[in-house]
Amino acid sequence: MTTRPLDLLDVDALHSEEELAIRAVVRRVVDDHVRPNVAEWYEQGQVPVRELAREFAKVGLLGMHLHGYGCAGASAVAYGLACLELEAGDSGVRSLVSVQGSLAMFAIWKFGSDEQKDEWLPRMAAGDAIGCFGLTEPDHGSDPASMSTKARRDGSDWILSGGKMWITNAPVADVAVVWARTEDGISGFAVPMDTPGVTAREVRHKLSLRASCTGEIVLDDVRLPASAQLPAARGLKAPLSCLTEARYGIVWGALGAARDSLHTALDYAGAREQFGRPIAGFQLTQAKLADAAVELQKGYLLALHLGRRADQGVLRPEQVSVGKLNNVREALAIARQCRTVLGANGISAEYPVMRHAANLETVLTYEGTSEIHQLVIGQALTGIAAFS
Ligand SMILES: Cc1cc2nc3c(=O)[nH]c(=O)nc-3n(C[C@H](O)[C@H](O)[C@H](O)COP(=O)(O)OP(=O)(O)OC[C@H]3O[C@@H](n4cnc5c(N)ncnc54)[C@H](O)[C@@H]3O)c2cc1C
Repeated sequence: MTTRPLDLLDVDALHSEEELAIRAVVRRVVDDHVRPNVAEWYEQGQVPVRELAREFAKVGLLGMHLHGYGCAGASAVAYGLACLELEAGDSGVRSLVSVQGSLAMFAIWKFGSDEQKDEWLPRMAAGDAIGCFGLTEPDHGSDPASMSTKARRDGSDWILSGGKMWITNAPVADVAVVWARTEDGISGFAVPMDTPGVTAREVRHKLSLRASCTGEIVLDDVRLPASAQLPAARGLKAPLSCLTEARYGIVWGALGAARDSLHTALDYAGAREQFGRPIAGFQLTQAKLADAAVELQKGYLLALHLGRRADQGVLRPEQVSVGKLNNVREALAIARQCRTVLGANGISAEYPVMRHAANLETVLTYEGTSEIHQLVIGQALTGIAAFS
């Protein structure tokens, strides 16, 4: 058997036929609907969220790992493979799917009432309704326990006031899962975005994740019926469990950006000649490519291990932190190193590598910064929470 540069260790052999078939479908969707346009979306800082959502829904990518309500009910490994293929297109495009499925839909699926599930999940799975997940605030990011957004009772209604920042999909969303402080602790609410008092503004001037729609949500005494509260969400554990879902997808997704960067660098190094021969023939170039391939494969084995544990129902949050910390950090190192292989062309949007590297700066920060994941792992190792 000959070496396949992007699967040096023949890890594909560890997948079932079904997993590989799902991967092939997602790869085709990305080839058809993302790759031809993504550089332009990135340069313009605009992405057609609704059209993409409908395309992704056709192959069951929205809420893919959830059961019922029109969701595909796929395995954690299959969902991971989908995230990888999407992020090989662009981290922003993968974010669209992660936020829709792992954050907004998962929160409603896990903590919502039957009425909330019936109202939102089938439409969200079909791409007819877009969701977002509002946890971060302008003054409270890594420490959501100190959030200022409040929900108070007025008769049986709730009144929400405050604001959320850096919320993916917010400007185009139909529903926001908003986390707010109540007298009884942190609670979640399914907030229709057309409710009076809700406004969403786009965050502009991003230099990363530009093919993703990011916004600020302002909640100005927003009156909601009692039925808007997610009844089973009690305390900060509820949003954190949603984050664990999304972080798991990132463990895989980041590898997609890394793989696409290595793929591009390998092609480029084979074709580009300097000093009378392909730059792939220089030892220093080979060292870069070898290091990238080694880290890519190690990250993949880690993702697959975590995925199999998720499918067995035994994956723990600190294990997800190991995957998120390692795979995003290494993917970013791979993308940066691969960019150097492309020389000046490495900074051009004609090639995807700099876009991946810039995107991975966001991926390093959102869904728990690297430092926070180090602290989660540190707590698991020592029994001492350094951040509380
Ligand atoms: C493009 C984009 C999309 C996003 N989408 C969403 C979304 O859909 N929903 C949502 O709720 N949020 C979203 N976020 C927000 C994201 O989750 C936060 O940015 C992240 O949690 C970090 O919070 P912060 O930016 O306030 O940084 P801060 O918390 O202010 O951290 C700044 C720095 O301090 C470090 N730090 C903080 N506390 C400690 C500590 N105890 N010890 C050591 N170091 C520490 C951090 O690691 C970081 O390096 C998004 C962010 C971006 C950039």
